[in-house]
Amino acid sequence: MSTISLTLEEIERLSREVLSANGCDQLNTDALVRTIVTAERDGSDSHGLFRLPGYIASLRSGKVNGGARPRISNDLPAVIKVDGDNGYAPAAIEAGVPVLATAAKSLGIAVMTITNSYHFAALWPEVEALAGEGLIGLACVTTKPFVTPAGGAEALFGTNPLAFAWPRPGKMPMVIDMATAAMAHGEIQLAAREGELVPPGTGLDENGAATTDPGEIIKGVLLPFGGYKGSAIALMVELLAAGAVGDCFSFESVAADNGDGGPTIGGEFMLAMAPELVAGPDWADHCETFFQRYDAIEGPRLPGLRRHANRQSTAPRQINAELVGRIQDLRR
Ligand code: NDP
Repeated sequence: MSTISLTLEEIERLSREVLSANGCDQLNTDALVRTIVTAERDGSDSHGLFRLPGYIASLRSGKVNGGARPRISNDLPAVIKVDGDNGYAPAAIEAGVPVLATAAKSLGIAVMTITNSYHFAALWPEVEALAGEGLIGLACVTTKPFVTPAGGAEALFGTNPLAFAWPRPGKMPMVIDMATAAMAHGEIQLAAREGELVPPGTGLDENGAATTDPGEIIKGVLLPFGGYKGSAIALMVELLAAGAVGDCFSFESVAADNGDGGPTIGGEFMLAMAPELVAGPDWADHCETFFQRYDAIEGPRLPGLRRHANRQSTAPRQINAELVGRIQDLRR
């Protein structure tokens, strides 16, 4: 792979120029740029600059509102509803998370629903923001139907990521963020671009036969991770992020889409919980004994450590050269 070195400042500048040149206003550009730069900073390669051409396609087709102003309603104290105004999810998340955190801190637990928005990013930033407030956070979204329920060969589920963050006072939070597909669709696209095979069990071709060729899986279906157990979690995400939120299931998102290659419309479910109000004042010390046991086992590492280690580096990031060229061309 031919790459170009870009500092995080250069990534920020390029993203800002391209989004602004394509009609995204300041508020939405700021939120999207933060999302892209944090993804590149932490090594979430499939959800940083890689997503920028899709964002631009959806601005150019007029599908997404680059001037969206998320609206918050909070009639029930523990239910924060954010209408994304047909815009990208980061602006809706940034508007809603402080309200969700305040509610959870006073009530012990609160949920947030985001509707009418387009999510195309990793989920850890929103749950990590809750953990930064001392809260337990959970988030999930539906996507396009790329994934078959276990035992079938017909796409119904999205790759349906689920993220969870656990605060650790005085330390980095423990953060899990994973697609419920055997592999995130962005990772399949990256493997196809790099000409790499993917592990057996990742997907089926368009005839329902097992394959390790990512190009064939893109034409066929992805499998859920972990057989019927992962399939059950993907199903739960559909019900939380679409059923409980009152927005599109993955199959409805794609039916509503114009096929421009950008994100599809849908909802997001978030939950925040204040551990000291739910578990009691000793919760942090109690949980540290668990983490000590975990760390004492040779072999495993905690989820999130790779990203948090990447975050420490101020070195330029190595970005696919063809992608950078494509993004630079989108400035006009
Ligand atoms: P990975 O399989 O790379 O990682 C999943 C989780 O497992 C991460 O928390 C990761 O932590 C952790 N992990 C990985 N390897 C190990 C290990 N050896 N030991 C312990 N923990 C480990 O992620 P996915 O490919 O499933 O998902 C990638 C991203 O795609 C996610 O950020 C997700 O939100 C995003 N996504 C977004 C979608 C959207 O439409 N918005 C759709 C689908 C996915 P670490 O990061 O530290 O490695």
